[in-house]
Amino acid sequence: MPPRILIIGQGLAGTALAWRLWERGVPFLIVDRDEPLTSSKVAAGLITPITGMRLTMSWRYDVFYREALRFYRACGKRMNQRFFFPRGYVRLLKNEPELTKWHKRRRDPDMQPFLHRKAPQLNAEVIQQPENAFQQRHAAWLDTTAYLESSRRFFESLDSYTTADVKPVDVRDDAEGVEWHGQHFSHVIWAQGWSAEKHPLFHWVPFQSALGTILTVQADLRGETRILNRGCWLLPRHDDTLRAGSTYEWQFDDPNTPSADQVQTLKSTLQSLLKVPAEITATQTAVRPIIKNRQALMGTHPTHPRVAFLNGLGSKGSLRSPWLARHLIEHLLDGTALDAEMDLQQNGV
Ligand SMILES: Cc1cc2nc3c(=O)[nH]c(=O)nc-3n(C[C@H](O)[C@H](O)[C@H](O)COP(=O)(O)OP(=O)(O)OC[C@H]3O[C@@H](n4cnc5c(N)ncnc54)[C@H](O)[C@@H]3O)c2cc1C
Repeated sequence: MPPRILIIGQGLAGTALAWRLWERGVPFLIVDRDEPLTSSKVAAGLITPITGMRLTMSWRYDVFYREALRFYRACGKRMNQRFFFPRGYVRLLKNEPELTKWHKRRRDPDMQPFLHRKAPQLNAEVIQQPENAFQQRHAAWLDTTAYLESSRRFFESLDSYTTADVKPVDVRDDAEGVEWHGQHFSHVIWAQGWSAEKHPLFHWVPFQSALGTILTVQADLRGETRILNRGCWLLPRHDDTLRAGSTYEWQFDDPNTPSADQVQTLKSTLQSLLKVPAEITATQTAVRPIIKNRQALMGTHPTHPRVAFLNGLGSKGSLRSPWLARHLIEHLLDGTALDAEMDLQQNGV
């Protein structure tokens, strides 16, 4: 049958897949159960070259970033809206050991294009201990809420979006194609985030998802627009609110309820970053889909060739989903080989 693709999930993964199909003129239906809090809806949308406690380059950053920049700009043009905002990113070093580590790391030749030569100027009336900082280049943030909502409206206008909780048992596949509620498709792609842990065809994928909490904050940063980070990051958004985050909880009972001590630690870290008063106006929590020891996985099921999967975006969904979605669509439609490190069939077990 000619290609027509069913996508389950309209998070960052499913949305990028739908756009990749739209770009190629391939019909699709994207189905989402419209939960109020999901990983993509809660995400800050930060895109950062040098990350983590170890201060290392994010894996294949250059490749993913170039593609993300082109992709979100093109989406913005189509919908006459801006979602993608390149921003300076200032990392403040916590203590002497971190400073020593940074002096070694900063010599890495791969890092040089992502570093500002001059030390950043920071307002000492706003930031506690503003010395010992470096500024990254080619960082950005994606307004995930605006991107997801506008994309949904666009797909609805094409009759290519519907709301439903798709039960795996209702999606039937054979060698020819896929059927769901009387509609026929060439393939189905499950892009359902951490819920895939319970999918009967994918329960063998070694998920190790983590609960994450993010705060909405009001504070007067006196015109500071860069993303700041010391122990936690702080993102000034264009709507005059700030976001601060985020936590990682590996054990949890409820996907939208954080543990009180994690939230308290985040609040204290934020207070130790800022000299100005900060009011917390909201707390949001969701589960990041993470696959153990993998950056992300995609591809078709080993024994169900019409059933595909894209998942495990971890904390890098904004950065990586455009590249991953294009590769998976090219694999399904053109038969191109998948990157060996992200091929579900080579890495899943
Ligand atoms: C606190 C926090 C902060 C984060 N910060 C960042 C950040 O700064 N930068 C960044 O890049 N990433 C960040 N992330 C991670 C990022 O959000 C994830 O990488 C990304 O959201 C994963 O997208 P996804 O589409 O795979 O999954 P999801 O966002 O979980 O989307 C899956 C969708 O599928 C739907 N669904 C599931 N099952 C079904 C079904 N059976 N039928 C119908 N619909 C279904 C769900 O309702 C959901 O809408 C953060 C995450 C959290 C929790």
